[in-house]
Amino acid sequence: MRAACHCGAVVLEVTLSDGMNTLRRCDCSFCVMRGAAAVTAHRDNVAIVQGAENLQCYQFGTKTARHHFCKTCGIYTHHNRRSNPQEVGINAACLDGIHLPDHDPIAWVDGRNHPSDRNP
Ligand SMILES: [Zn+2]
Repeated sequence: MRAACHCGAVVLEVTLSDGMNTLRRCDCSFCVMRGAAAVTAHRDNVAIVQGAENLQCYQFGTKTARHHFCKTCGIYTHHNRRSNPQEVGINAACLDGIHLPDHDPIAWVDGRNHPSDRNP
């Protein structure tokens, strides 16, 4: 599938791991403000085909996850996950042909109690 930011500077080609079945929102301090719902792809199945130089990376906390957004329009396109570094979260609203209201209700994941923050 093709995914693009709002201004079109950044374009990704992605193959989703399980279609729209992985669609989730996250309530961690960052995602809850960002407000985007994400679907999962393996990192080998995500290619930045246009605009890699136009992406900005944001990191916080443990700085494991890498949240990427377009420098021009500010839209989050994808992030490298902290819970599984092999996985990439793709902004579902950036995917061609996806109308998010058709997928309501969208489940929430408990990002406030992240598995990586639990004591062993
Ligand atoms: Zn953009």
